Amino acid sequence: MNIGVILNRVFRVNNNPLFEYISQQQYNIDKCYLIIPQELFEEDGTELKERYYYGTLDKFLKELYKHDIEPFLIDYSQLGDFSKDKGLSEIAVAGDIMSYHQEAYDIRHLKKAFEKYDVSVTTLRANHYFKPSLTMNKQGEPYKVFTSFYKAHRAKLRQHAAYDYKLNDIAKIAIKSQQTLDKEFAQEGLSESQATKNWNEYLDNDIQNYDTNREYLPEVLTSQLSIVLAYGLIDINQIITQLLESYEEDESNIEKFIRELMFREFYYVLMTQYPNTAHEAFNEKYRQIKWFNDNENFQRWCEEQTGFPLVDAAMAELNNTGFMHNRMRMVVSQFLTKDLFIDWTWGEDYFRKKLIDFDSASNVHGWQWSASTGTDAVPYFRMFNPIRQSERFDKDALYIKKFIPLFDDISAKLIHDPLKNKTQLEEEGIKLGTDYPKPIVNHKNAREHVMETFKSI
Ligand SMILES: Cc1cc2nc3c(=O)[nH]c(=O)nc-3n(C[C@H](O)[C@H](O)[C@H](O)COP(=O)(O)OP(=O)(O)OC[C@H]3O[C@@H](n4cnc5c(N)ncnc54)[C@H](O)[C@@H]3O)c2cc1C
Repeated sequence: MNIGVILNRVFRVNNNPLFEYISQQQYNIDKCYLIIPQELFEEDGTELKERYYYGTLDKFLKELYKHDIEPFLIDYSQLGDFSKDKGLSEIAVAGDIMSYHQEAYDIRHLKKAFEKYDVSVTTLRANHYFKPSLTMNKQGEPYKVFTSFYKAHRAKLRQHAAYDYKLNDIAKIAIKSQQTLDKEFAQEGLSESQATKNWNEYLDNDIQNYDTNREYLPEVLTSQLSIVLAYGLIDINQIITQLLESYEEDESNIEKFIRELMFREFYYVLMTQYPNTAHEAFNEKYRQIKWFNDNENFQRWCEEQTGFPLVDAAMAELNNTGFMHNRMRMVVSQFLTKDLFIDWTWGEDYFRKKLIDFDSASNVHGWQWSASTGTDAVPYFRMFNPIRQSERFDKDALYIKKFIPLFDDISAKLIHDPLKNKTQLEEEGIKLGTDYPKPIVNHKNAREHVMETFKSI
């Protein structure tokens, strides 16, 4: 048989279930075509993500070339014709990638695309720990409350042996494309070896401070595994195995970390079972909310011009680095959906275009959590106050100063609530409305509106 194996977003040579599959099937395979359908980043604002994606792909290809493996680089739109042209009877692909830049690349669309070409599609789990169908509750439905999911499945995590395929064997049967990448961003992105080095160092030196460091804003002190997982650079089974191996060294912090990875699994299961929630409220009764959807306010949020320094700093972090701290994701998403009362799908889509660690399940459910429209979401009456969040989590305004240099020499006390400190800020040379925007919304009024609206539904 002739087989095609799709490697997009499983950019690793170690512990890759697709290589394991080829290795197991090698005596049934006549010709094996390794394929990387490349993602397109055509929308405005996606340039940073595009560079990161192609930089990471470039590093993966260079690693494969070292092993004499040369995958075919094609567009998604050519997959069907490619399979026909090469006489493929089977396609093997990771069925659980949630980080594709466009929905059109996901497994549901891919399966449909191959249907008319009479090619069977074999899906493998490459990027999540649990198989969704094995995580259901007694009623055969997905758990809708995280703590129940966690209680039911935490004990199922166990250590895994590494796969033992040999890349030499793969190289022998994989047809060489003799193609190279025409876009090269050698300085960008992340390689598997660097990701592994970072993760091992994190595990050795930093995880014991996870609980305290998790809320630290001025520097990224969390693992940034989200990026690693979004490109499939390290196997999740390997990550879990290492965490369990180190468990006794610091049970409390490691358990907290595992709990976060379980959140990712929880959202993944929900998304596979309720794919419609990518675009509509999980909680049906909130589908009738009449959002303000003010375009100008949305632009101000995107462009770091809300007049709330913490929110603007976080949006600057996103726009400039393609990453955002977890607390800040909560703050800016609550600000957009509650203070500005803009539909969460607008913010979700903006994050999709900007986040290098974009993951549809975590992103959608993160947004629905903040908007109080999701399952197990924050109750609507616990609305964040952006000024209080700033005073509490960025007391010395170090994070704000990092991303808004205008405030460099200003005392932290004046920064959290610029309107209240308008006169003193002017004395320091910052005029509201000229040098820095006036707040675009009154939090107290916004809060009243949110309470009334949610209560009335
Ligand atoms: C509005 C909103 C949007 C989000 N969008 C994304 C997204 O597109 N992609 C994404 O990977 N995460 C998303 N998150 C979750 C979380 O913010 C990131 O996973 C985390 O900030 C990544 O940093 P880290 O890897 O250093 O995290 P660490 O604190 O080191 O956590 C380790 C891992 O646990 C998982 N994790 C941690 N927190 C969460 C969480 N709240 N939900 C699900 N998984 C979690 C991630 O895989 C993360 O890599 C979103 C959260 C919110 C509130």
